[in-house]
Amino acid sequence: MTVRINDILDEVSSYIPEEDKRLIEKAYVFSARVHQGQKRLSGEPYLHHPLEVAHIVAQMRLDVTAVTAAFLHDAIEDSLTKREDIQQEFGEEVAQVVEGLTKISKMNFRSVEEQQAENFRKMILAMSKDLRVLLIKLVDRLHNMRTLEYHNRASQLRIARETLDIYAPLANRLGIHWLQVELEELSLRYLEPEDYHVLKTKLDAVALEKEPFLRDVMAQVSSKLEEAGIRAELKSRIKHIYSVYQKLKRQGIPLENIYDVLGVRVIVNNVGECYAALGIIHNMWKPIQQRIKDFIAMPKPNKYQSLHTTVFGPGGERIEIQIRTYEMDFIANEGIAAHWLYKDYSKLRDQAKLRDQQGQELSWLRRLLESQKELKDPREFLQSVKLDLYPEDVFVFTPRGEVLQFPLGATPLDFAYSVHTQLGHQCTGAKVNGQIVKLNYELKSGDVIEIMRSPKQHPSKDWMRIARTSRARNKIQTWLRTQEREQSIALGREMLEKKLKSLHISKDMDLEALAREFSFKTADDLYASIGYGRTSVNQIVHKILPEEQKKEFKEVHPKKKQVGSSVVVKGVDNLLIRFARCCRPIPGDDIIGFITRGKGITVHRSNCPYATEIDSQRIIPVEWDMGVSESHEIELTAICQDKPGMLGSITAIIGARNINITKLNASSMPNGNSMCSFRLLVKDLGELEKLSAELRKLKGVERIERK
Ligand code: MN
Repeated sequence: MTVRINDILDEVSSYIPEEDKRLIEKAYVFSARVHQGQKRLSGEPYLHHPLEVAHIVAQMRLDVTAVTAAFLHDAIEDSLTKREDIQQEFGEEVAQVVEGLTKISKMNFRSVEEQQAENFRKMILAMSKDLRVLLIKLVDRLHNMRTLEYHNRASQLRIARETLDIYAPLANRLGIHWLQVELEELSLRYLEPEDYHVLKTKLDAVALEKEPFLRDVMAQVSSKLEEAGIRAELKSRIKHIYSVYQKLKRQGIPLENIYDVLGVRVIVNNVGECYAALGIIHNMWKPIQQRIKDFIAMPKPNKYQSLHTTVFGPGGERIEIQIRTYEMDFIANEGIAAHWLYKDYSKLRDQAKLRDQQGQELSWLRRLLESQKELKDPREFLQSVKLDLYPEDVFVFTPRGEVLQFPLGATPLDFAYSVHTQLGHQCTGAKVNGQIVKLNYELKSGDVIEIMRSPKQHPSKDWMRIARTSRARNKIQTWLRTQEREQSIALGREMLEKKLKSLHISKDMDLEALAREFSFKTADDLYASIGYGRTSVNQIVHKILPEEQKKEFKEVHPKKKQVGSSVVVKGVDNLLIRFARCCRPIPGDDIIGFITRGKGITVHRSNCPYATEIDSQRIIPVEWDMGVSESHEIELTAICQDKPGMLGSITAIIGARNINITKLNASSMPNGNSMCSFRLLVKDLGELEKLSAELRKLKGVERIERK
């Protein structure tokens, strides 16, 4: 029978005030409008689906926001409706819940192994920041499972698998037992139709056969409890088909040997009566010692509480008896949802009390989190609730549909390094949901990440600021250290060999022995020390030169002024630096360093044509040290009309800026222009650009070019 809007309005009457019901009616009308003309696979109007979902949500007694959002849950995904439309019509809270639902339904989860299923569950939890999103999502899935018969076999299998792997366990974590049970049963029905029907038939037969026995047990318990002054409600129960199925699979035993297929539930008024009832029952029948479980003293992570015992009942037949209070029974069924419903709405309309109630809500969750610490396996529920309340993690997809977990703030670099070290080293950026992003983009739950790489790319020091995970940071750090050392060894060797050659000292000398003389373990350590600038070549040479040559050496090699201190090599101190003559870089230029045979590091402008020809193995990252003020020589050429006074005007402008000219050359060109070339000492690119701009304004100047 089809649900009507009035059924829902009746359902919520008990806990939602009249004026709030108008929002629900409005959502119904809105939903009818946007889904108009759409049909489900069953041939029914699409509207039936949101109606059913809203009805179940109302039966769960979720609040007005949840019922409203339930009506609209497919509006963004399956119609032209925008988030803003919903926000305008129904307010921000409803819009947020619907948005959360839309995000989850856009995700494509594939059935995979257990670890991935776990990640999918976590991802859904991370994205359902509001618990209502998750609750409505589960109900949505429930209704889709109830109407799964209209799908083809392939979709049935896919949807049922996904339900069993992802959604039923989520219902379990939230402690919503009835929902978990129905999702599992429906999944099994489609995944293993034969097993399901055989088992169903058997269970029905067992229930029928054992009915008199159960009635006998309940009557006996009831009268003994009454004698003790305990008023209890007794129910018989049959184990749910999916848990029986699992047990049969797991233990490989026939159904007849499963003793807890049938049971009796005893519901009493308070905890004291629970333990009293347990004592009375154990007096009646002998318990199986290892089957007594006290989930009251030690609740399950999803807050389930109850006493369980299996006894040899009438005729020595085993039977499981569960004892709990009404409240425990309620929570066992509704789980987290139990804490969402307003038992007495009229009281809550007092704002202060509403705040109080919310405070309690949170403190309950907080207590729950704290209690996790004492649990043996706190993994499950702790993480789920924590993700929800304290979103510290993000979950993203690989292009192949796997989900990976990262700390909040993680970037494509973390992602790349988690896949493969080499992919990390060569990472240039990423495509996120198809859009290109930079290395420092912060990953968001639900993103699909595709790493872009280039063999020319390599890690740099900045990456330490971008990477969040220790794995990525360690890999980057290791690379940088290795790289520095290799570069220093190469540089140190070049410098030492060149010096030895210039002094005509034989190349065959034992450098390993020399290294040991300077307390290094190996020659490489010695080179590295020279390369780092900790040991000077002259120190070494001084030690090995014959006495008579030492004096000469000192005179011929006066201490050279170290140039280029305005450049720093990342992570390396005191390297010999020189600036390439071909492009004459100045502070402000983009620069690149190369290890040059015997000359330390040569710095080029990165766009220098010579630089691009150099072996990339010799590249070393360099940058300007803007704290150092030093003049650098550059070459500037002015092409101008060949007229008297031109050169004078140009030099006057240069002079007025206090810039020194170290060389000047003027010549006539065949086309009647003249070319004036200057070598100038400038501080940085800024100064040069200002000068060039002024020169360009000079009448008669055609072009200004920097070599
Ligand atoms: Mn839906």
